[in-house]
Amino acid sequence: EPVPSFDYVIFGATGDLTMRKLLPALYRRFAAGQVPSDARIIGTARSPLDDEGYRERARKALGDYIKGDEFVDDTVARFLGLVHYVSLNGADAGGHWAGLEAKLATDDAGRVRVFYLATAPDLYGAIARNIDEKGLRTAQSRIVLEKPIGTDLATARDVNEGVGRHFPESSIYRIDHYLGKEAVQNIIALRFANPMLERMWDRESIDYVQITAAETVGLEGRGGYYDGSGALRDMIQNHLLQVLTVVAMERPSSLDADALRDEKVRVLTSLKPLDAGNLGANVARGQYVRGMAGGHEVPAYREELPDAAPSNTETFVALKAEIDTPRWQGVPFYLRSGKRMPEKLTEIVIQFRASEPGLFGEARPGSRLVIRVQPDESVILPLFVKQPGNTFGLGEVDAQSALGEAGRAGFRDAYEGLLLDAVKGSPALFVRKDETEAAWAWVSPILQGWATAGSGPEAYAAGTWGPESARALLAQRGHHWVEDLAA
Ligand code: NAP
Repeated sequence: EPVPSFDYVIFGATGDLTMRKLLPALYRRFAAGQVPSDARIIGTARSPLDDEGYRERARKALGDYIKGDEFVDDTVARFLGLVHYVSLNGADAGGHWAGLEAKLATDDAGRVRVFYLATAPDLYGAIARNIDEKGLRTAQSRIVLEKPIGTDLATARDVNEGVGRHFPESSIYRIDHYLGKEAVQNIIALRFANPMLERMWDRESIDYVQITAAETVGLEGRGGYYDGSGALRDMIQNHLLQVLTVVAMERPSSLDADALRDEKVRVLTSLKPLDAGNLGANVARGQYVRGMAGGHEVPAYREELPDAAPSNTETFVALKAEIDTPRWQGVPFYLRSGKRMPEKLTEIVIQFRASEPGLFGEARPGSRLVIRVQPDESVILPLFVKQPGNTFGLGEVDAQSALGEAGRAGFRDAYEGLLLDAVKGSPALFVRKDETEAAWAWVSPILQGWATAGSGPEAYAAGTWGPESARALLAQRGHHWVEDLAA
């Protein structure tokens, strides 16, 4: 599919996200021949730099984040030829907008313009207004919004309304890079292209579902940002609930963006509301204290904060979500995310119901399907088979497919596909306004309950799978987190 010629205008172009993710992703697509040679990438931020000064920073970022034989001097030089910079305070109507306008000047009315907002989200409304009022929004313009869209339902609505006054919803692309991951998209293929799985995808066959996103790292110097956010806002409200919608949605009428997103939002609005006054039944939160990671002792979360201040921010959340539809009645969806876990792991486990004890003697656990997103993209379906030899003893084998091979042939990073989808005008893998707001509405009682709770998060030692209450959440129903199943 050809990519039309485009101008990519990045607000926040000197920031960490641009340097670490956006420029490397655009470089890789350029190296793969998918960026037209007359495309332009125009960085803007307040820092006083000219084109050459910014290219120097961009070259350094590519050197830092593009490793090995992917970094080709000549390709980098040609890529940097597309890169420009305008020093501009995007939130200020009196800023140097004429400079941006001059860079964008073109005779081609059909040329695509993407405005990528990678600043703090409270600037999004003002930047959108200025783009519009300065006459820079063309019929072929889209605006991409980085997470987080707000910090609760009210601020999410502020961002959506602020941007929505100046861009139609069809041109607003809210990025959730989990939707750019091969394995997450593969859930849709697995579910709806394999009749065996499609027929078993309901309460009759599925006992429970777990979705885990675990990191081994702690704060990594982003303490100021993280401490104002926490695991619920940073991971659950967006990424994990997005994965849940793809696992749980009904069959969409087509793969068309709105058909897909209509089904996803239906899942979010069907989530059983949580009770702010009785969160313990559904939610566990933790904060890590000193422990062992990678064979050496690591400090507590509080000790990693810039001023080692006391903090009630959660670095771990586990919760039980239930979906009030005929398909999922009574099936818990367990979601968890944490820092300083024993493994870096993102995976979805579909636990099928066990059958009655029968031909092979004692009751055995139901099968489970594991869709792994990180560290390798794969689908694992352990099957019981007869052990070799003259008996009917059973053994377990893994029917495993490595999506990783297919993934590597395509994108190294989820941003690559998404950045070009915005150019092509394919919003299917972006989050619609009503999805964001439904997700915030569902997590609101948790935020309220925590704000009024007398106590803070529970302590868990770094290098463990979170506080004991996370295990207790599943034990209520005789369920286990996957690491306890494997033991
Ligand atoms: P950052 O490193 O602090 O960068 C912020 C950028 O915004 C800088 O380029 C800054 O440059 C620019 N900026 C600030 N005020 C501005 C203004 N008034 N007008 C124009 N530019 C302005 O932040 P970041 O980590 O890149 O994150 C950017 C956004 O992405 C945030 O919303 C963040 O939550 C989100 N995000 C980040 C990551 C990540 O891994 N870093 C991941 C997911 C989402 P000047 O100071 O030169 O103006």
